[in-house]
Amino acid sequence: MTGRVYKSTGSWYTVKTELGHIYECRIKGKFRIKGIKSTNPIAVGDIVDFELETDNNQDTGVIHNIHDRKNYIVRKSVNLSKQTHIIAANIDQVFLMVTINNPPTFTSFIDRFLVTAEAYSIKTILLFNKIDTYDEEALNEVRYLAHVYRKIGYECIGISATTGKNVEKVKALMSGKVSMFSGHSGVGKSTLVNAIEPSLNLKTKEISTQHMQGQHTTTFAEMFDLSFDAKIIDTPGIKGFGVVDMDKEEVGDYFPEIFELKQDCKFNNCLHIQEPNCAVKEALDNDEIAFSRYRSYLQIVEGEDENYRTDNWGN
Ligand code: GDP
Ligand code: ZN
Repeated sequence: MTGRVYKSTGSWYTVKTELGHIYECRIKGKFRIKGIKSTNPIAVGDIVDFELETDNNQDTGVIHNIHDRKNYIVRKSVNLSKQTHIIAANIDQVFLMVTINNPPTFTSFIDRFLVTAEAYSIKTILLFNKIDTYDEEALNEVRYLAHVYRKIGYECIGISATTGKNVEKVKALMSGKVSMFSGHSGVGKSTLVNAIEPSLNLKTKEISTQHMQGQHTTTFAEMFDLSFDAKIIDTPGIKGFGVVDMDKEEVGDYFPEIFELKQDCKFNNCLHIQEPNCAVKEALDNDEIAFSRYRSYLQIVEGEDENYRTDNWGN
């Protein structure tokens, strides 16, 4: 039988088949996935093959195979083993919720998020929330940012989780897919999910840092089926996407507008900082690349902001 992992509590995995049957499954013996050093071999979102256990009448199974992952997100394990913990796998898209005010979301944050999402091969859609509260200046800011991010391929939607403006559009995009919601605390994630599916009471509220330290890996991601053929992965207490280690040379590959131009630079290892005949700097001078994007690129390449590597991503 084949199913998708909805929940994991250490040694047991809740697996749902396409017909909607639910089985509690476990792994027997050693089960390692080549090339991935993680504390958990199987994560929420994984597609697994399993056999029902024959020695009892309960609906329990043994997982013997895991399908190739389309993508997965990790975080560093709290212990010192340097192993990673896989939070979730096979995510179709993440909605990054952004607000101009209350709280403000800065482009440096958006860009770091997008770089990590690109590195994980996860599609991101930007939701500019709370548009019901914005004055003309804030609305202009939304329009400008939407222009910047649409130009480089990201879908952008202005919404209001409280008035319902464009919430149907978000639902349409979620249909048939596995989605996650991210963004700073207070941007309206719970409000939006509640507007989308009132019966679902997600635990998106952050857990205090102190609490987290005491509990480390005991917060688990969980997948939920919505009433309109959509799935959500909720990651309570997990801030953002965690850590992605990348080389300086690699960063530009995750900025679509830089990636597109890099073959036109004189040097093929161009970092687009000081080098002569750099196509990226030329595009910047011609206003073809947004300055805020380039500034974020430099911050990441130069490692100015340590937070880029880990937390401060909201949840
Ligand atoms: P979360 O931390 O991202 O889950 O944010 P919440 O959903 O808890 O929302 C934080 C606050 O913003 C709450 O007081 C919400 O009522 C408010 N809020 C969320 N979305 C909107 C919106 O579209 N418009 C307005 N005016 N308030 C909103
Ligand atoms: Zn260059």
